[in-house]
Formats: sequence, structure tokens, C-alpha cells
Amino acid sequence: MKTIAGFDRIGEENAFAVLARAGVLAAQGKDIINLGIGQPDFATPENIVEAAVKALRDGQHGYTPATGIAPLREAVAADLHRRFQAEVNPDNVIIVPGGKVTMFSAILMFGEPGAEILYPDPGFPIYRSMIEFTGATPIPVPIREENGFGISAEETLSLINDKTRLLILNSPANPCGGVTPRAEIDKLVKGLEAHPDVAVMSDEIYDQMVYDGEEHVTLLDYPSIRDRLILLNGWSKTYAMTGWRLGYSVWPDGLIDKVRKLAVNAWSCVNTPAQFAALEALTGPQDAVAQMVAEFDARRKLVVDLLNDLPGVSCITPKGAFYAFPNISETGFKAKPLASALLEEAGVATIGGPDFGILGEGYIRLSYANSQENIRRAVDRIGAFLEKR
Ligand code: PLP
Repeated sequence: MKTIAGFDRIGEENAFAVLARAGVLAAQGKDIINLGIGQPDFATPENIVEAAVKALRDGQHGYTPATGIAPLREAVAADLHRRFQAEVNPDNVIIVPGGKVTMFSAILMFGEPGAEILYPDPGFPIYRSMIEFTGATPIPVPIREENGFGISAEETLSLINDKTRLLILNSPANPCGGVTPRAEIDKLVKGLEAHPDVAVMSDEIYDQMVYDGEEHVTLLDYPSIRDRLILLNGWSKTYAMTGWRLGYSVWPDGLIDKVRKLAVNAWSCVNTPAQFAALEALTGPQDAVAQMVAEFDARRKLVVDLLNDLPGVSCITPKGAFYAFPNISETGFKAKPLASALLEEAGVATIGGPDFGILGEGYIRLSYANSQENIRRAVDRIGAFLEKR
């Protein structure tokens, strides 16, 4: 059977392969500590679970509008106003089955042979995979340790040319934990004003996970690019809802109807009880979010301190998300063989930096969405492994 060439180019996320391998090893009786997959280790808050159960009991069993139920789209707009004073029309909001679906839709909308799409490297692997699927040319925007793993506006702007269709941004960032400061975003947006045909997709799925008094700067703050900005966000990380498959995006007037039609063709609408749960998440008490973020903060400090005591390892303090991205280039190991040996021999799941792009060599990613006790045990094991070599 001959399928389109895109399927020979489509990639995947190695974090899922590592999760599967960790599961196999655990089933064989090995004690595996998982710092691989990027999902909160907390349960979804009870009030949110109850809202879904209630929706089911209330008979919310049918389709909803393709863009999502109106109260939820209104709640998204109100939440963005509450947190960022952003003016968002609920008609520009679509509820989607997971944050990934926004990047899938946006990249599909702008990618084709001859087009160039800029994406962060190291970055979430699905950006590049989807760009390649469409036949567009992926242009990596380097994310550098010396910039605190934030983007450089100057370097990003230097990569734009008349073939550039879409610029993908991600702050707070996976896998490096970087947060791009306002001054740099100001500079970037100023430069983008000279390129009115370049659309921007800003992946802000970790927007509530910022530490050390750092500010999350949303691209919604910049009126000069609002007519070409796609905002990606969702519930997976903030409300510990990765398995619910829930996300939302804000699209400009010129694009919202296109993505609505894509929804009608592909997923009709998001699971109805999940939409009621999402509504409760945004309108109910927010203390669980604050507690989770405080716990992530404590783990972040712990993991960075412990990593910096290991031979050949240095780790800058990440300002956001729940990942540490230690530099392992002085250990004598390449990143992927190290991640693989740590899983097979030390029982610690991590992800090799190259799974996030070519500039990820020399680093591994540790998700600190695990207990402080497990983080201590995991880093002890990594230390014992490195000392033995
Ligand atoms: N964007 C980034 C930067 C992520 O790290 C992830 C998940 O790991 C997603 C989007 C996708 O989130 P979801 O699970 O809601 O599809």
C-alpha cells in the first residue's frame, strides 16, 4: 500500500517509548523511578473529577458545538482576562482534545513544501515531526544554556525570510525549563512587525509554572501581532489532567473558522463531560494549582542541588515548567546512551537531550514531577552509576 510521503517523515515522542520500556522493566520486578514522562504525579483535584461525574449523571452524553460549549469558551476568555488582563472574544476560542491538537492544527494550516516553519531546538518533538509531515522545511531556533534556555530575539529574527510562514514559541519551555523574559519578547515582537505574513503560535501550556518571582509573559499582550497569533494552552499540566485530553486555543478572526472546520472533520468536539470538568477547573477554587506549583518549586530546588553535586554534571536552575536539563557533556557519555544506561542499569528513566533536537546533545531531561524521596533516590542512583564509570 502506498501512503503519502508525509507518513515516511512523521516522527514521535520518545518519552512515550521510555514510558513503555520503564513499564516493561517494572513488570519484570525492577524498581524503576520515572523522571521521564512530563506529567504531574498528582491526581486531578476532586472538585474537577466530581464535575465530570455530575455531567455524566445529568445526561450530558451528546455532541457539543465543534468549538466547545459556550460557558467553557467564556470561562477561558475570563480566565485569560483575570490572569493577564487580556481581551479575548470567546468566539475566538476553541476547545480541543489536548494541547497537541493545537500545534497539529496550526502546523497543518501553514506547512507545505517550500514553506519554512521556525521552531525551538531543543523543543517539544512534535513541532518538528508535524512540520516534516507537511513537507515544510523545519528551521530550528537555537535554545541556548547561556541564555538561561530562553530564546534570543535577535537570533530568531535573523532566521526569518520570505518563505517563513509560522514561528513557534514556547515559554515556559519543555524540555529546558527556560522562561523568556519580557524584554526579549518585546524585542522579538518589534522585529515581527516587519514581517506581517509570519504567523505566530505561542505554546503557553506551562504558563502557571514559573518560579523565583519570574513573570510569565503571554503573547496576547502584544496588539501588533494579535491578528496572526495562535495561543496554545490547556488543562493537562496546570490541573493534572493529561489523561483527560483537554486543551484550548485562541485563534485570530481569519483562522478560527478554518480550525472549526478541521474539528468538524476530525474530532467533532471534545468529550462532553470533560468539558464540564474543564469549566469547573477554571471557575472553581484554585488552591490545588498553587499547592502543586509550590511542591514543584521545592522539588526543582532539590533536584538542581543534587544534580550539581554529581561528577561531570552541571545544571542551571530552570525558571519554569517541571523539567531540569542538566549538562552532562563532562561525564564522558553521549546523552542518549547515558539515558538508556540509566534506565537499564540504574533503574532511572530520563530522556536524552537529542530526543528534543540536535542541540540537545550533551544534556538529559529530568522531569521532577515525582516525589522528593524518589528524586533523591534517583539522583543517588545516577551518582553511583557515574562514579562506577
Ligand atoms: N506543549 C508542550 C510544550 C508540552 O510539553 C506538551 C506535553 O508534554 C504539550 C504541548 C501537549 O500537551 P497535551 O498533553 O495537552 O496534548
